[in-house]
Amino acid sequence: MPRKNARALVVGLGGLGCPAAIALARAGVGHVALLDDDEVDPSNLHRQILYREGDVGAPKVLAAARALEAFGGSSRFEPIRARLLPETALELVRRFDVVIEGADNFPTKFLAADACGLAGVPVVHGAAVRWYGTALAAGPSGPCYRCLFEDIPEDEAPNCDEAGVMGPVVGVVGALQASLALGVLDGQAPFGRLFTFDGKADTLRALAVPKRPGCALCAGPRPRALAREDYLKGAACRAPS
Ligand SMILES: [Zn+2]
Repeated sequence: MPRKNARALVVGLGGLGCPAAIALARAGVGHVALLDDDEVDPSNLHRQILYREGDVGAPKVLAAARALEAFGGSSRFEPIRARLLPETALELVRRFDVVIEGADNFPTKFLAADACGLAGVPVVHGAAVRWYGTALAAGPSGPCYRCLFEDIPEDEAPNCDEAGVMGPVVGVVGALQASLALGVLDGQAPFGRLFTFDGKADTLRALAVPKRPGCALCAGPRPRALAREDYLKGAACRAPS
């Protein structure tokens, strides 16, 4: 698919989504939608590289679209000030050729995985805590996010707010997510490989994710609806935004 005709959705305009959106736009992706319901906070500025001090208090999607437009280029940006919700996720992701998921909590990550899996849309997941980050591109037939993490953690998730995350690590992982998404659009996606970046040792490793036998998402039969309660039971981990 020519990149100028491609449509990408970035879920979460935090530490991962900012560099991913920049890289997609600079690579000539024609339509880049930006989804987030949060506002810019002063504590975001060291790692969420689309925002400046003057953006504090503004909706992230509007500040991000403004910054991306200022770079020039031919991409169109669609700010969507909302959360990914079970009621609307399927309909939303169907409009796109690829989804980049850089959410800061497990329920949203699983919802993005499930909606994309059900809609048959490739999704590139990303996460980062402290000095470590991961990225995984999942195709419609798997291996998928649920092959890696079977379900939303029911126990207390690690307190990622306290754990923190290093700005350069989300920069690397967000750029890697964009690279994987461009691979999807160019028809050369390395689906099912988990990339792990260690920001202390500065190493990047790739590991094949095996398909989980009986995976609830990619091994079928698949659930037809996304039920809200499925995404409320997990403990949220507010880490890598
Ligand atoms: Zn799976």
